[in-house]
Amino acid sequence: MTAHVIDGRAYAADLRAQLTDEVRELVAQGAQPGLATVIAGDSYPAHAYERRVRRLAEQLGLRYVRETLPAEVDEADAVAVVGKLGADPRVSGILVLRPLPPQVSEAALYRALDPLKDIEAVHPVNAGLLALGRPRFVPSTPASVFHLLDRYLTESGRDVQHVYQHSNVVLVGRSANVGKPAIMLAMERGATVLSCDVHSYTAGLLYEHTSHADILIVAAGSPGLIHGEHVAEGVIAVDVGINPVNDPDTGKVRLVGDLDFPSVSERGEAITPVPGGVGPITDVWLLRNTIRAARMALGVATARPLLEGMALQPADGLLNVG
Ligand code: NDP
Repeated sequence: MTAHVIDGRAYAADLRAQLTDEVRELVAQGAQPGLATVIAGDSYPAHAYERRVRRLAEQLGLRYVRETLPAEVDEADAVAVVGKLGADPRVSGILVLRPLPPQVSEAALYRALDPLKDIEAVHPVNAGLLALGRPRFVPSTPASVFHLLDRYLTESGRDVQHVYQHSNVVLVGRSANVGKPAIMLAMERGATVLSCDVHSYTAGLLYEHTSHADILIVAAGSPGLIHGEHVAEGVIAVDVGINPVNDPDTGKVRLVGDLDFPSVSERGEAITPVPGGVGPITDVWLLRNTIRAARMALGVATARPLLEGMALQPADGLLNVG
């Protein structure tokens, strides 16, 4: 078997076309959505992500603000910047880029966010709403994983609900921003969900678990962690990992995922590549959430569900919580 390679760039292009129309509608209603990013220090991946979302925001016609803080910034000053953006009516959505310098706690910055502008659902209120199954925003990476899966399953002619309800979904990695929200989304779809982290690996159980996955989602940040021998024949494998490695042939840095692509492709039904899988959709989803926040601020009903095909209901009536 050679797996079908799911084209995340094509899915992202379709989402982007929808967003262009939505921005046009909003502008016609007298509003211009705005995205603000907060970046502290000189982390290469954070700056690379910031550049991608800035370019996309500008292409879509969103207002864009970047707050660049020095690596030695005080936590209180960083909190004040996040608070200032919350009070700025030109800003619809705020992204705090990670990693933060060690003296600035993520929790402190997340608490300082205006929950109505918290497009990555990291404020405790929004994380709680997601855990309750009533999300205001679905964080962009896990949302992209399930957008991609839902669309692939639909296009391959299956009853999507039936597939999830009869699937073992195994997640490797349970960070607050990727793995844990993805667990919630898999559970909401009625899947049987198994969550693994580094303890599963050190206990020698990780590959036993991954070999029972019908759908495998890997977000560990460990290059080539999962090989073909660790997955079942016919698995649908989604690779969230983005790991820079030195290519011994070219001497250059290249990006690889957490799956060993060649060997997993030999056994899987479908696989996402790195780059070109989840990543491009994530970038667009962040802008989608920003536009959603702008609609909420305007009091305009959202044009689209939070995530197509999901049973979750948006946090209607709870929009002013927090
Ligand atoms: P974190 O480092 O915050 O979390 C990694 C998780 O994986 C943790 O739960 C960790 O366990 C677990 N883990 C680490 N090693 C192993 C292992 N050997 N076996 C099992 N579990 C393991 O990373 P993120 O969640 O932020 O990101 C994960 C990856 O996804 C990274 O490569 C990142 O670059 C990428 N990423 C990609 C995005 C995209 O759009 N495609 C967006 C965001 C991230 P423990 O908690 O016990 O340490």
